[in-house]
Amino acid sequence: MTALLEVHDLSKHFGGLAAVNACTFTAAEGQITGLIGPNGAGKSTAIDLVSGFKIPDTGTVLFEGSQVQGKAPHRISRMGMIRTFQTPREWPALTVLENLLLARWDGRRERFWRSVRGPSRAEKAAAADQVVRARNILDEFSLLELRNERAGNLSGGQKRLVEFARIRMAQPRLVILDEPMGGVNPVLGERMATAVLGFVTDGTSVVIVEHNLPFIERVTDNVIVMSEGRVIAEGPFDSLRSNQDVVDAYLGEMPTYDDAVV
Ligand code: ADP
Ligand code: MG
Repeated sequence: MTALLEVHDLSKHFGGLAAVNACTFTAAEGQITGLIGPNGAGKSTAIDLVSGFKIPDTGTVLFEGSQVQGKAPHRISRMGMIRTFQTPREWPALTVLENLLLARWDGRRERFWRSVRGPSRAEKAAAADQVVRARNILDEFSLLELRNERAGNLSGGQKRLVEFARIRMAQPRLVILDEPMGGVNPVLGERMATAVLGFVTDGTSVVIVEHNLPFIERVTDNVIVMSEGRVIAEGPFDSLRSNQDVVDAYLGEMPTYDDAVV
């Protein structure tokens, strides 16, 4: 299995606190990799370091074999790695459809706007194709009726779905999702699980941080467990239930979940 993302010995301190401490893990191409751990474990900081939003003190991040640590976020996203934040981000004043049309990562975005204004019939046809594609994706996410709504007016769950639709539109090589279920109505959970599995079908590998362990169990191929800035365990979700370090880190959270399922 090819490692799409290789993180080696990554560290980040805030004053005296080692938020991420010699973290090493990989995410394989074509897989959904879970990143779990208690609050404050360093998951979001690790994502910030990988995606260029923070600069690591030490360590390397290889994306498709190229070093990306310390590069600006827009450069990393143009290479095909995009990430979401714990709170959805959208262009609030633009419509849902426009938000999708702008969701390209490799320069096609600029080409899209040029083609709208441009004189060439071929360019106009390409732009029209993108609108058709965006509408199809919105339809899949049951968002088509909201296409002319300003994205800023949507509910938290709808904004999350728009974000997922934008990822489908962009088709990056890798998407990193930071707690996509946070603050989302559980009714949306099933659609979000389907959407995450759909990313992989579409050629987008996934790294997902999520506290909802049934969701993690359902969608992931492999799970990395962090605690106090370090990776303490790694493996398929099932293999982690009986791992004492993991159970200890969660202070019994995982066994409670087992009980709930039985
Ligand atoms: P997680 O996402 O796993 O909950 P975070 O990466 O957000 O954890 O945080 C890891 C640790 O780093 C926590 O103790 C948090 O308080 C601390 N931390 C995160 N960001 C900052 C910051 N900008 N300044 C100082 N401390 C921070
Ligand atoms: Mg976090």
